[in-house]
Amino acid sequence: MSEFNKNKLKEKVILHCDVNNFFASVECLSKIELKNKPVAVSGNPETRTGIILAKNDIAKNFGVKTGESIYEAKMKCPHLVCLPPHYDLYEKISKQIIEIYYDYTDTVESFGIDECWLDVTESVKLLGNGKTIADNIKERVLKEIGLTISVGVSFCKIFAKLGSDYKKPFATTVISRKNFKTIVYPLPVESIIGIGPQNKKKLAKMNVNTLGEYVNIPDKILKTKFGINGVILKQKLLGFDFDDVIDNNKKVQIKSVGNGITTNKNITTKKQILDVVVFLSNKISKRLEEKNLYGHSITVSIKTDNFEKYKKSVTFNEKIFLQVDIVKLSMKIINSFWDYKKEIRAIRISIKNLNTFNNPTQLSFFDKSNFDKSNKLEKSINKMKKKYGENSITFASLIKNKYLNK
Ligand SMILES: [Mg+2]
Repeated sequence: MSEFNKNKLKEKVILHCDVNNFFASVECLSKIELKNKPVAVSGNPETRTGIILAKNDIAKNFGVKTGESIYEAKMKCPHLVCLPPHYDLYEKISKQIIEIYYDYTDTVESFGIDECWLDVTESVKLLGNGKTIADNIKERVLKEIGLTISVGVSFCKIFAKLGSDYKKPFATTVISRKNFKTIVYPLPVESIIGIGPQNKKKLAKMNVNTLGEYVNIPDKILKTKFGINGVILKQKLLGFDFDDVIDNNKKVQIKSVGNGITTNKNITTKKQILDVVVFLSNKISKRLEEKNLYGHSITVSIKTDNFEKYKKSVTFNEKIFLQVDIVKLSMKIINSFWDYKKEIRAIRISIKNLNTFNNPTQLSFFDKSNFDKSNKLEKSINKMKKKYGENSITFASLIKNKYLNK
């Protein structure tokens, strides 16, 4: 605390609210007959080939796990009720809960469909300390919506989030400057946002299993093993997380994500165009992924060697974010208007009509299409590239037969 007094920085009071078993709880909410039954939300319950997307606590007690097949889950829990997801309903309930949060502060930042950070620093004088506000919100969400939430209360975002996970359901955990080392440091490394399964493995090899052990890694080693983000995470774990809660309404609205290239030599053949499109799409899809966005329109702009400019935009029904789709649809647009006799100097592709995915990990739950397949393909390509270098595998070679000869 003393350092903060010295710097005259006002200590923030941040809450992280997380709805417990959100999807399964919402399903139970609307169907009274499901009370006290093991319930799971799953893909395609009829065929039993779908996977478990979410489950309630009763199902959890039977050992039902997210990600396993309905068949596996029913082996453990024969009476498991499997329901298809009702995404519109989840969105509606999510909005109602967020409205309650806005009664306590005007700074609410959504993180996925069922989690939010609230900066209540300015509300403390009026509404009581962080724990009091957290408990009040918890009671109100239960009374007015019928769902339980867990809340983490802390001076920073990262510990508030960890706090909402620390005890559930319907719990409040306060992580203060006084107790954070006692609470946080004994936890396994993957308890903190930012350390996924990959990094957990890497850390285990270094004999680092707890967050307390993580903060003892010298910066130099962190930097070589995990890059600058590894060092930033350590700073946060030491109590120096000054990230602001950014209100949903104040987030910068990005209009488009695009990428263009001016070539040294004129592009003349269809194969060359495809190569460029594959190259540009790779960057675009990475940026969309980073920003958790998808689009519905693609604009292709072309400049010829005589500086003539052409542009065509098309809006599609599907959610555009995967490289394979950006390539496929951009080529479709180009094929529809381009005169291949002309020589090209520059190409630009932009994705517009952007929307935010509610939760990146929920993508496969709601996108029936062949998302899983394409996503797996892209992931394995990215993996190979990471392992063997950018040029080890050409995306074009995988798809050119499909799109080139049309
Ligand atoms: Mg949750």
